[in-house]
Amino acid sequence: MSYGMDLGKENRNQNAMGDPKFFNKESLEEEMRRQFQACSDCRMCLHYCPFFPVLFDIIDQELDGETKKINSGHIEKLNSLCYHCKLCEFRCPYIPPHELELDVPRLFLRYQAVKGKEKGVSIRTKLQVNTDLIGSMASKTAPISNWGLMKHPLNPNRLMLHYMIGIHKKSIIPQYKRETAKKYAKKKLKSSVAKGDGGKIALFTTCLVNNQRTDIAKATLAVLEKHDVIITVPPQMCCGMPELGVGWTDKFQANMIYNIKSFKDLVDNGYDVVTLQPTCGNVLLSEYPKLAPNDLIEPANNIADHTFDIMNFLWKLKLDNKLSREFNEEGFGTITYHVSCHTQAQRKGLSSRMLNLLPNTKVKAVTGCTGVDGTWGLRTANRDMSVSVAKDQVLDKIAEMDPQPDWIVSDCPLAGSRIEEELKIKVLTPIEMMAKAYGLIY
Ligand code: SF4
Ligand code: SF4
Ligand code: SF4
Repeated sequence: MSYGMDLGKENRNQNAMGDPKFFNKESLEEEMRRQFQACSDCRMCLHYCPFFPVLFDIIDQELDGETKKINSGHIEKLNSLCYHCKLCEFRCPYIPPHELELDVPRLFLRYQAVKGKEKGVSIRTKLQVNTDLIGSMASKTAPISNWGLMKHPLNPNRLMLHYMIGIHKKSIIPQYKRETAKKYAKKKLKSSVAKGDGGKIALFTTCLVNNQRTDIAKATLAVLEKHDVIITVPPQMCCGMPELGVGWTDKFQANMIYNIKSFKDLVDNGYDVVTLQPTCGNVLLSEYPKLAPNDLIEPANNIADHTFDIMNFLWKLKLDNKLSREFNEEGFGTITYHVSCHTQAQRKGLSSRMLNLLPNTKVKAVTGCTGVDGTWGLRTANRDMSVSVAKDQVLDKIAEMDPQPDWIVSDCPLAGSRIEEELKIKVLTPIEMMAKAYGLIY
């Protein structure tokens, strides 16, 4: 079949970080021009994000429709507009195994890696994305750190973060907890009497849940305990996505290798990996198998095959007839469920199928990205674009609901914070609703 273009197979090495051409800028730009030609011929993603309208404007207005004229300057401008929500990846009909092999967000991850290798990553950027380090320091010093990070126009720390580190003064930073999720789990699991009828899981807490949204981990442990699941929390680091997104490749690789080595024996011994944040879960599912060094590709694939978001793990229990139906009969009335883009990117099903099991509860799904995407939307440079994406894709849809829902939940705690911040309403995660439905106190 002809697509009226050069299929350019020799440049399609963006998935292999070990490939000598991976860091070759010319080869990458050639591959970008090939993929952008396909996008120009298709245009389905025009309204997904700010990147596509700008790409098509450049092609139509500046380049007489000729994508082969796209140059490094255009690419640098386009790079600043992709925040890796992956909407255009999981909705594109031409992703592998289609012979066109398109994957626009992966092109920009590679672009960041090439740029990071060429120019290095600034200390300022490293401070923005080192969630392990910042999280552990802020948790150890909570509640003082929370007081210092409080959102207030006159807070000198927030002004310093805004102007010197580049975290916008209006961004909500969820409160750090002195007792991290890992510490809580260690204490709680000492008295566990689980026999494993519900299976065995290794918890990937994620930095956000470990240091800030510990309530999500507590709800998870309570629900899993109810289902007689054996739980372990192996040593782990940040999944590495924030580092990958800014081209700090060495740090991403170090985190990835550490995590694969830490989880591989557990998976070999029958444990599933349960994740508590969709972005991080997606990194284990999609990025590690593609970016792991050759000797770890097999364990990375094995881990991916056994990785589940907590709500998908519960769905697995349901399919095995092991899900408890001892729900609170009262139900929740109406729930608006925000489907995060990285949940969709996982292609493993939506949390609404579990919420729909709850008595006297009606669930209405809202899709779209809230433009937070790790630390991208918190940064000073991206704040306006990020809020505008959230408004167009999610916030206005919720604000216009009449009547307003009784509850709002989002798979993504970061998206939840954005909705809370802008609409001034409480947002929970689906697993917290499940814990409530079971009447569990945690
Ligand atoms: S990413 Fe795929 S669906 Fe989107 S515009 Fe490009 S070719 Fe079309
Ligand atoms: S990943 Fe998201 S932000 Fe990036 S190009 Fe695709 S739709 Fe746009
Ligand atoms: S912030 Fe949440 S909603 Fe946005 S891309 Fe990430 S997971 Fe998806």
